[in-house]
Amino acid sequence: MTAPVLRVKDLRVHFFLDEGLVRAVDGVSFDVRPGQVVGIVGESGCGKSVTMKAILQIVEPPGRIVGGQILFQKDSAPVDLTRLSPKGAELRAIRGAEIALIPQEPMAAFSPVHSVGEQIIEALRLHERQWRPSGPRLSRTEARSMTVDLFRSVGISMPDARVDAYSWQLSGGLRQRAMIAMALSCRPRLLIADEPTTAIDVTTQAQILNLLRDLQRRHGTAIVFITHDLGVIAQMAHYVVVMYLGRVMEQGPVEQIFHAPKHPYTRALLKSIPSVNVAPRTLLPTIAGSIPHPLGRPRGCPFHPRCPDAMPGVCSERVPALGPVGPDQLASCFLYHQDEAIEP
Ligand code: SF4
Repeated sequence: MTAPVLRVKDLRVHFFLDEGLVRAVDGVSFDVRPGQVVGIVGESGCGKSVTMKAILQIVEPPGRIVGGQILFQKDSAPVDLTRLSPKGAELRAIRGAEIALIPQEPMAAFSPVHSVGEQIIEALRLHERQWRPSGPRLSRTEARSMTVDLFRSVGISMPDARVDAYSWQLSGGLRQRAMIAMALSCRPRLLIADEPTTAIDVTTQAQILNLLRDLQRRHGTAIVFITHDLGVIAQMAHYVVVMYLGRVMEQGPVEQIFHAPKHPYTRALLKSIPSVNVAPRTLLPTIAGSIPHPLGRPRGCPFHPRCPDAMPGVCSERVPALGPVGPDQLASCFLYHQDEAIEP
């Protein structure tokens, strides 16, 4: 089996607030292999975006990575990104060139005072030595021509003209396509897609997902796909990590997560996917209760106040360890591993 492009091991990111400690990510581990799409899913506040920021080393104070490793496979040897200076040259060279981000709202990612094409041309020239180690420097004319090709490859019509457009002149769908072109410009090994279709309409959403899937197949790029939407995960991911209150509840291949979910939280999430077949005005199933405030994480299993299967005296007292529940499938639940608890 090929080595993972990214290996997240026992990652812990804590926020040190005046009001107390928030364990936003608390012992998360997963691998991303070349060409694999790993979906990280969960309700708001489950820690998926903080995990993404930790990979990119852009966690802001009072947050801090307090434990674990983020091993990125660089050429022949893995580099622990948590050991690199967040503002240092080595991390800057990796970020943007080898690991690229497709953000939820590209409007905020593009500068409004330069054309989108100009920004991609700059990125191409800045990171040129990483994707083209030798040969003459890339001229502006060549970089512009490559940008037009990138626009064409992500389905932007009239690419010659749109290279000169400003981000605020483009529709939401075109802006997201331009952002994908920007992310792909340096041929990254790993793409992080952070809710990339949340801010756009449903038709454009389907087009963008098809585009990402097509690009992933053609280029074999590994993707970490962050979303609250299990429907999107079903379409995109090969492997799924289900998070709740900073911890992994379940992880495994997408077929098993959807057809043989083991954790009560995963089952509840799946039940709450809206279906077009329900009768009009039918109440949709929801997960009982709400996510506790991060400062008030419950003792024991974090899901126990909302869990229909909670066992009194067990689930409220100890934290279940993540253990095997199927082929390549793990869950942290006492229904399967009564004797395996971890330190709270
Ligand atoms: Fe529910 Fe207990 Fe399993 Fe937590 S450990 S998910 S409370 S059954």
